[in-house]
Amino acid sequence: MLVIHHPDQALHDPELVFRTGQFIPQPDRRERYEIFQRVMQEDGHAVETAPFGPLDPITAVHDPDYVTFLQTVYARWSASPGYGPVVIPNVHPTHRMHHKPTELLGELGWYSNSTSCPITADTWPSVHASAQVAIHAADRLSGLPAVYAMCRPPGHHAYPDLMSGACFLNNAAIATHRLTKTFGKVALVDIDVHHGNGSQFIFYERADVLFCSIHVDPRLSAPLYAGYADEIGEGAGKGLNFNQPLPLETRDPEWLAAIDEALARVQGFAPGAVAVSLGFDAAEHDPVATFKITNAGFMEAGRRFAALDLPTLLVQEGGYLSPHLGSYLRSFFQGFARQSS
Ligand code: ZN
Repeated sequence: MLVIHHPDQALHDPELVFRTGQFIPQPDRRERYEIFQRVMQEDGHAVETAPFGPLDPITAVHDPDYVTFLQTVYARWSASPGYGPVVIPNVHPTHRMHHKPTELLGELGWYSNSTSCPITADTWPSVHASAQVAIHAADRLSGLPAVYAMCRPPGHHAYPDLMSGACFLNNAAIATHRLTKTFGKVALVDIDVHHGNGSQFIFYERADVLFCSIHVDPRLSAPLYAGYADEIGEGAGKGLNFNQPLPLETRDPEWLAAIDEALARVQGFAPGAVAVSLGFDAAEHDPVATFKITNAGFMEAGRRFAALDLPTLLVQEGGYLSPHLGSYLRSFFQGFARQSS
């Protein structure tokens, strides 16, 4: 398996986020990058550093003003007297408010929907590197059966002009859009335990991208306001958005059955390539603690994706720190390789 990464992805590492009335450890720690990197090297995969290309593939999916905001917000914040060391919004517009301000606090609230995206001086270099990894991985897929974009920070909650759920730039959506230029129709299948609400929004009216997401019931966990089964796409994309919300404590058989349903949709769609938003936070030992997926479950999932026999771009999403995190990635890859060989 060809693995794409960039060392700057490890830079972003805020310590805390504010949730449930308290500061708690920020889940997307730099150790995640180090764990994924170590597993790929130990297992003998070819690891390639992504070059930094232009921003165009990013602004093909994201609002250019939002991208400029991400590049500059920390400098604006740190020049504001009395502001703390980390950029965290504390006021947001609701669906009844539609005036976009240009001053810092208003703009920050406009471009975010929660306190889950703390920003430091290292955030833009990391999220930019993560997006460039996705872009380069998409480009390298031509002529290869599969490529792994070792993205971190993750991306699937990010909208064209909104950071959300620890996501700033939607790596999988940027890569999927780019793949449509080479492969025509593309299916994006999201198996992170949280609904891929940003990806859903980006492709909701598109006829050339099928989006399937398997995730915990959004009434019970983020993103709360999207991810329901009746969200099926609109316009040219009607029927091409397929959500499968599952209950808490879902185990391997039900999860794999949902993957089978998604993969049957993929086969019916007959895409030229498949992208996978590959999260491991559905795991039984993940600190998110929603599903109970085992190493055997991830291995079987890998086998079933490989059995599609289509060019496949694997894009890393969630999956948080536990002694087992690396083993979930290893299991998925072992299943994928077993079917491919
Ligand atoms: Zn997640």
